[in-house]
Amino acid sequence: MARQHERRTIHVDGEWREAVSGTTRDIIDPADARPFAVVAEGDEKDTDLAVEAARRAFDEGDWPRTPVAERAALLRRVADLLVRDREELGLLESRDAGKTVEEGRVDIDCVADAFRYFADLVAAEAPGRVVDAGSPDIHSVVVHEPVGVCALITPWNYPLLQASWKIAPALAAGNTFVVKPSEITPLTTVALLDLLTEAGLPSGVANIVTGPGHTVGARLAEHPDVDLVSFTGGLVSGVKVAQAAAVSVKKVALELGGKNPNVVFADACATDEGFDTAVDQALNAAFIHSGQVCSAGSRLIVEESVRERFVAELARRAARIRLGRGTDDGVECGPLVSEQQRAKVESYVASALAEGAALRTGGKRPEHLAEGYFYEPTVLDHCHREMKVVREEVFGPVLTVETFRTEDEAVALANDTEYGLAGAVWTADAGRARRVAGRLRHGTVWINDFHPYLPQAEWGGFGKSGVGRELGPAGLAEYRESKHVYQNLAPKPVRWFAG
Ligand code: NAD
Repeated sequence: MARQHERRTIHVDGEWREAVSGTTRDIIDPADARPFAVVAEGDEKDTDLAVEAARRAFDEGDWPRTPVAERAALLRRVADLLVRDREELGLLESRDAGKTVEEGRVDIDCVADAFRYFADLVAAEAPGRVVDAGSPDIHSVVVHEPVGVCALITPWNYPLLQASWKIAPALAAGNTFVVKPSEITPLTTVALLDLLTEAGLPSGVANIVTGPGHTVGARLAEHPDVDLVSFTGGLVSGVKVAQAAAVSVKKVALELGGKNPNVVFADACATDEGFDTAVDQALNAAFIHSGQVCSAGSRLIVEESVRERFVAELARRAARIRLGRGTDDGVECGPLVSEQQRAKVESYVASALAEGAALRTGGKRPEHLAEGYFYEPTVLDHCHREMKVVREEVFGPVLTVETFRTEDEAVALANDTEYGLAGAVWTADAGRARRVAGRLRHGTVWINDFHPYLPQAEWGGFGKSGVGRELGPAGLAEYRESKHVYQNLAPKPVRWFAG
């Protein structure tokens, strides 16, 4: 795993290379703002070479035609290698993305789970679906085939996890790919490519180009030899990717941002235990990984009658979250990923205060952590839907508080977003829980919980949170074409034309 020190982080046709231009990029540790690795800074030329290799491996190689059982076995070997390297990869993810090492380890476990899940899914499937054509002389079957060359573009918050939700199903379905990790957190995805080779994946099937979005990412999205682009990232980049991909009519999957409501009814707080759980989970929803989570519960929508008690306790606990370098003992939350990200968070907090929000805690950089991109967990009370901080994705440790009096009002507030990725409802009333969950326009709804996902269950968004789904059977279907094979067992003339 010394690859990040070698500058050869572009993997094309089974070989590690430097960028064609020879350019490199320093990878910064967000906990101290110092470089700790160097990677190749690829551009359009490197991208074209990688797509060419993936195209060749798809059109002429064995992988798309490899029996499903063998593909599944390879994915399981990858999962085993991830478990073997868990400690090293978890640490690398922690340094690269700024999360705690424990979060890094959990990420790697989830990555291994994704590989196992898609291995099991394809291995258990029927090879096709026989269709009743209404005649014993017709044999009609629908089969699945890989899409072809996939471009996989990923963000910096869960670098390897987001990559695995694309790579595992793409490989399970028999595709070849070029992955482009975020330019600021590429290291674990680079390491995964070595594990794929070690597991026995043929050359050219898996390729990686490290480099920026406006060159490598944009070229992948428009490249005529790419058949599918699967993108996870922000709304603005996602729209550009969809526009570029439309020119050559590629399949497109987009996993974009979220502005996720966490709705708390007073009845959930009726007992001390219920109150403690709802506050604890609201804290977790908003501040894990410093809020740099697409499904972060960044909008607390709490019933008016419990607002004061709830927010006071939440702010008290938020102020006690132990910030620091993710690799240090006892640290509960790391820094933001970059100076740019922290500046963005600061500007949202400033705009909220200017628009009338009340600061209950945080709102500044911690004095004891001068190095690195730290920002205090921040709770903004008295927020309303006209505020920028309530409408737009902040992607930082900032929680806004809104209140409601009725169930209808709670649902209206929770759905009042252009996004629709995830949301939660907290209530002790089982009927209300089901009613509200049914009315929320979000791709994942938690009842009395926040954040868990299952590889077996589809993940994705309504509205501007995206197009398509990852995980679950639909997450595999994204990487497939359906083909109807219709065979006439007793052909004879149709006599449509007289002659
Ligand atoms: P980003 O959009 O800036 O970048 C994402 C990726 O796209 C990076 O690899 C980047 O280099 C690339 N890119 C940028 N411009 C591009 C272009 N014009 N063409 C092609 N590629 C381009 O996002 P980010 O800041 O890295 O990640 C944070 C965002 O990701 C947040 O909005 C978050 O909500 C979202 N996200 C969504 C999910 C989900 O499951 N829905 C998961 C994680 C993150």
